[in-house]
Parts: sequence; structure tokens; C-alpha cells
Amino acid sequence: MAIVSSGFSHDNSSDAKRKSRLVDPSSLKEDSKIIKEDSLRPKSLDEFIGQSALKEVLEISVKAALYRKEALDHVLLYGPPGLGKTTMALVLANELGVKCRISSAPALERPRDIVGLLMNLQTNELLFVDEIHRLSSAAEELLYTALEDCRLDLTIGKGTTARTRAIDLPRFTLVGATTRPASISSPLRDRFGITQRFDYYQLQDLKGIVERTASFLGLSLIDDASLEIARRCRGTPRIANRLLRRVRDFATVKQRMNHIDVSLVDESLKMHRVDDRGLDQLDRSFLSILFNTYEGGPVGLETLSAALGEDSATLESVVEPFLLQIGFLKRTPRGRILTLEGQKHLLGA
Ligand code: ADP
Repeated sequence: MAIVSSGFSHDNSSDAKRKSRLVDPSSLKEDSKIIKEDSLRPKSLDEFIGQSALKEVLEISVKAALYRKEALDHVLLYGPPGLGKTTMALVLANELGVKCRISSAPALERPRDIVGLLMNLQTNELLFVDEIHRLSSAAEELLYTALEDCRLDLTIGKGTTARTRAIDLPRFTLVGATTRPASISSPLRDRFGITQRFDYYQLQDLKGIVERTASFLGLSLIDDASLEIARRCRGTPRIANRLLRRVRDFATVKQRMNHIDVSLVDESLKMHRVDDRGLDQLDRSFLSILFNTYEGGPVGLETLSAALGEDSATLESVVEPFLLQIGFLKRTPRGRILTLEGQKHLLGA
């Protein structure tokens, strides 16, 4: 399987603070050096850990497509960043024995970008478009006939001399990935035959992912060191791999490469201020202000944003989702509330 990258970029956030967070699930510069992340990606469905329900659905569809010697139906994968959507697209191409061309919506802004990509596709190949909710309406319209009838309707010329030309395309599979499925227009959404959601990973699956990556990096984790990293990675393989790399740095300097145990993991992640639930300094400041200044809330996001000196959009998209997910925070019409669980964590109970 070959990977063809076209304007590949996960790294499109402009928020500098977000970039520096070790527990940010988006791809940071370090991960997105394609070689680095790619070498860790599982290559087959068998190697792909977790997400068993989604895997079962895709496995049947792949087998059926191979049996009928047809292109796989178009697939929409959605869920938070870092859970394996890109990886799954590459796995699907590998299982189907075809090339995967990788792109992302922001790189397909002009109609000619998407036309070029579609016209270069070979029969049954896979086209992966990340952040598909960000496609421009011109690109989206071109996709409609391409997806449904394998045809590109191009308008050539302007005004009275404008003509439409239809170009036939080979059968292909579009794999779209998004963190925001609700932002995809319904005509586009309806053209995907298979839609699957990625969930946060279970602890045992994350442990397996950490152990797999450790073996790639030639590290020996002993006792429950892998479980300790799994506990702190916010259910996200990308963060698990990143934390493991930081632990490796620490072990290298401390000359403990052959003895990475729970205490070494703890020491190294403490240095990065990632606590035993995967919360970092920003998460904890958010919770402490809520607790100490506003008696646990309810308090409005703008007030919290002013108190923390952080942009409210960053808080809403980067800090709150995980705190909500683990039940430390509640969003109510009257504002944010710190839960009892969140309080206990803050007080170290
Ligand atoms: P997304 O496209 O959802 O943002 P990626 O597919 O880029 O996420 O995955 C991020 C990282 O996590 C990759 O380096 C990949 O190797 C790793 N990863 C994701 N899912 C799995 C999995 N199920 N098993 C092992 N590693 C995984």
C-alpha cells in the first residue's frame, strides 16, 4: 500500500497555548512529522486495537468489496482527535490492497485542488479527506456527482460562453473524517454508505497500545507502567504515544531504559505536570478557580475565561470536553458547575 500525501495537515490550530499542551489530542508538530506517527500506526484490522464494534462493521464491508471486486462504499469516520480515524483509513486501504491518497479539507479550498485529486484516482483507490466538515461549498458540490455517479461536472469558461463538461471517474472510495459530524451538510452526509463513530478507548486497550508502541521503540516497561500511562492519556492513543515518548526521554537521561516502572512513569509525568487522571496545569487551574473563587459554580464561561486569562473558545474546545467526559464538570444553562468527583480530585481525596 502506498500513501500519497496531498497537503496533509492536522496541525491547523492557531492557538499557541494549545500547541504546547502535552495532553492535547490534536496532532502537534512532533506527532505530525508523518514518518513518526506513521511508523506507529497499525497496518491491518487485526493489529488495530480496540473499537471492536466499528472494526466488525468495516471488516464485513471490506470482505464483501473484495469478494465482489468492487470499491468499498464511501465511509464517514467521526469522533474526537487522536482516536485513529486516519489510521483506520490507511488500514482499510491496506486490507483492500489499494493506494490511499491523503488530504484534508483546508487543502482543497479551490475547486481545481479537488478536481486534480479526483482525476488522478485509479480504480477502487481510497481517498482520505480529513476535517471533511470544512470543505468549501464549491468543492462539496463537485464531490456530489463524483460520489454518486463517478462523474465530475466541470463548468468551463464564464458568462455566455460557459459550458459544462462531464468527466467520467473510476469507482473509488472516499473516507471522510471529522470531529464535528453535525457540521457536515446533509447532502454530503447522505452520500456516505457507512458511518462509524470512534469512542474513547478502554483502559485495557490503551494499555495494549502503549505496550505495542513501547516494543516499537525498544522499551521495556515493567509491572504496571503501561497501565499507568494508559490511565493518564485521556482515552486517546495519540496522547498515550506522546506520554510514552516523554517517559522514554526521562528514562534515557536517568539511565533507566531497561527498568521503566510505575514510579519512573509517575516521576516523569509529574515533571510535565500531568496528574494521575491525565489532567494538566490548565485543567487544574480551571477547576481550582471554579472551586476557590466561585464556590463550585454555577459560573459563566466568560467569567472563568477572564479569571484564568484564557480565551473562552480555547476553554470550551480544549479544556472542557475532557472534564465533562470524566464527570468533573457539568454544563448547565446557568453556567459551569464543579461536580463532587471534580472536587474530590482537586482535594486529592
Ligand atoms: P485521528 O486521525 O483520529 O486524529 P490518528 O489515526 O492520526 O488519529 O491516530 C493518532 C495516533 O494514535 C497514531 O500515531 C496511531 O498510531 C495511534 N493509534 C490510533 N488508534 C490506534 C489503535 N487502535 N491502535 C494503535 N495505535 C493507534
